[in-house]
Amino acid sequence: MSELLKRRAPSAEGAAGFPQVRLRRMRQSATLRSMVRETVLTPSDFVYPLFVTHGQGVRTPILPMPGQFQVSIDNLLKEAAEAQSLGVPAVLLFGVPSDKDDMGTEAYDDHGIIQEATRAIKQAMPEMVVVTDVCLCEYTDHGHCGVLTHDGVVDNDSTLELLARTAVSQARAGADIVAPSAMMDGQIAALRAGLDDAGMPEIPVMAYASKFTSAFYGPFRIAAESTPKSGDRKAYQMDGANGREALRELEQDALEGADVLMVKPALAYLDILSQARARFEHPIAAYNVSGEYSMLKAAAAAGWIDEDAAMLEMLTSIKRAGADIIITYFAKDAARLLRSNG
Ligand SMILES: [Zn+2]
Repeated sequence: MSELLKRRAPSAEGAAGFPQVRLRRMRQSATLRSMVRETVLTPSDFVYPLFVTHGQGVRTPILPMPGQFQVSIDNLLKEAAEAQSLGVPAVLLFGVPSDKDDMGTEAYDDHGIIQEATRAIKQAMPEMVVVTDVCLCEYTDHGHCGVLTHDGVVDNDSTLELLARTAVSQARAGADIVAPSAMMDGQIAALRAGLDDAGMPEIPVMAYASKFTSAFYGPFRIAAESTPKSGDRKAYQMDGANGREALRELEQDALEGADVLMVKPALAYLDILSQARARFEHPIAAYNVSGEYSMLKAAAAAGWIDEDAAMLEMLTSIKRAGADIIITYFAKDAARLLRSNG
């Protein structure tokens, strides 16, 4: 190598011992930073979860989730319209039924709360994508995600039939995407077969494929009134210590025909999300769960953290890790902020 080339060759050290490689160069101004930004959030990344209940004029605050409410259908329409006006394309509906029983009957009742809410939204705003939660835990008096055997164990295979009935009933009411969250083995295949047999092969299934048992669901259970009366969900939701098993769950749901694969929760499982992104070509969804929302809200209310900045940092990390779709209670707040920043 000539002396000239040697002097020009990149090295860690430049003239007089200073670095030639200076990563700070491209961080000098807001404009430069915006040109090299790798991950950009937009309101169309978000799905807004909502809790809908019977009645008229209901808007009951969910205490551990400031800014979130149990709403009746009239107020649900206002929430959905506001989300839509902010550029959020989809809502995810959870039902709070009038009655619960051991079979979770209202889940698959054609006039259940989710079915009525779905019809109302699709009629008022046909463009809004309605995703419906497919599970029994909000509807069973025991609070488990499936029906129980005499021994009190969740009966996987008889639950599958009820989950498929629920999905078909929701799709008939106008749901655009059904999202099974019960963590039963074979639930994606059961829903796919149910929808296809009912003449709805076009309805996509968003699979809660790797759903971990998590303390971060605590506030949700208050919101959806779905805390199990006895025991816990560790016999069907995944052990948070198991990354390889999560990939098997994702693989299995992909094989059964899932159209979107979800990782839940998001923040404590960003490694799983990143591995899912690397391994599958499917759209990947992540659920920024209630506890993640509540922690930030509580810290912000105490004046301990900058809520807006922390919220965007959190959501950006979920997208950077590999999520195409982010289900988040921050959907409206984040969309509003992104629009005012943009
Ligand atoms: Zn459930």
